[in-house]
Amino acid sequence: MSGLTIENVTKRYGAVTAVKDVNLHFNKGEMICFLGPSGCGKTTLLRMIAGLEEATEGTISFEGRDLTHVPVHQRNIGMVFQSFALFPHLSVGENIGYSMKIRGHSRSECEDRVKELLDMIHLPGIADRRITQMSGGQRQRVAIARALALNPEIFLLDEPMSALDANLRESMQIELRRLQQELGITTVVVTHDQTEAMTMADDIVVMGRAQVHQTGTPMDIYKTPINKFVADFIGTSNLVPARFADGNSVSVNGTEMQFGVKSDDAGAGDVILMTRPEEVFVHKVSNKPSANALEGTVNFIRDIGMTIEIMVDCGGQEVVSVMTPKDFPEVELGEKVYVEMPPSACNVLAA
Ligand code: ATP
Repeated sequence: MSGLTIENVTKRYGAVTAVKDVNLHFNKGEMICFLGPSGCGKTTLLRMIAGLEEATEGTISFEGRDLTHVPVHQRNIGMVFQSFALFPHLSVGENIGYSMKIRGHSRSECEDRVKELLDMIHLPGIADRRITQMSGGQRQRVAIARALALNPEIFLLDEPMSALDANLRESMQIELRRLQQELGITTVVVTHDQTEAMTMADDIVVMGRAQVHQTGTPMDIYKTPINKFVADFIGTSNLVPARFADGNSVSVNGTEMQFGVKSDDAGAGDVILMTRPEEVFVHKVSNKPSANALEGTVNFIRDIGMTIEIMVDCGGQEVVSVMTPKDFPEVELGEKVYVEMPPSACNVLAA
């Protein structure tokens, strides 16, 4: 099969199961982000793709070739580590050309490739500089160039932005994504930062406690999270306890609310009605919506320029709405309002 395939992969360290029965498939040339909280197993999964760890069970293959037991140096993989792991005693050029040199490439071949890679990462003419003279962002680009020196088939990055400050992080995310698209190289990035994953990925794999919760495009995962864990982890969401009523409605404290999507594991009894704040609208009582609205009282308003956040207490349940200044109904603190959640914005999840 074309692309990267992970089948029934489990990794145990003694009594600890770091990765449990993971099945994934990605097309060649895609950028994939493993996203999840600390300790969920994302680095272990990446290290198994790299060949730095061996799977306890299951297989990993690329373009139909079984890599499960192939040693790391025979995998044609480039990797960037969290710390960049550059050699401080070598120059920039020596770092980038290191893997070519140990594979016996000639000096001129190495020099040509180093020049090409330095142009690619927008740092031309600095091959002779010391690593210690480079900034954090420059070191990261050097680490990327070093990992790509041998034209790997798979490019792996473990928390590549974590050593950079916040401003630089965003521009490097865009730069890395552009480079990956230009090269068309199958890339896997480990991150615990949802914005980073949303910015860069074709597909996001949301992990928690050794397991994959959901895989999909950033928009799929944002719009239709499969469960409470994913809804909570990606973006901000309103999670309102509800009771399943019939085919396409639930009841929230006696108010009937129609929904657009229901996850497979949400059963009949108690469920959760999930909405994204930007799809929730606050109305003055004089402007009561015809359906799908909860009564409440405004208990907080935060105007942050581009948007206004309104928190409403709906019978003890707080619901957040984010509106543009243009749509804001000029409600005030303590005012009784209606909170409208259009059916298409309502997802029903398991409680
Ligand atoms: P982080 O974001 O903190 O790096 P992670 O999601 O990448 O976390 P892993 O590093 O893959 O998580 O670890 C998953 C689980 O496996 C953790 O419980 C961890 O303690 C355990 N683990 C990882 N490596 C080993 C090891 N070599 N020996 C024993 N347990 C390990």
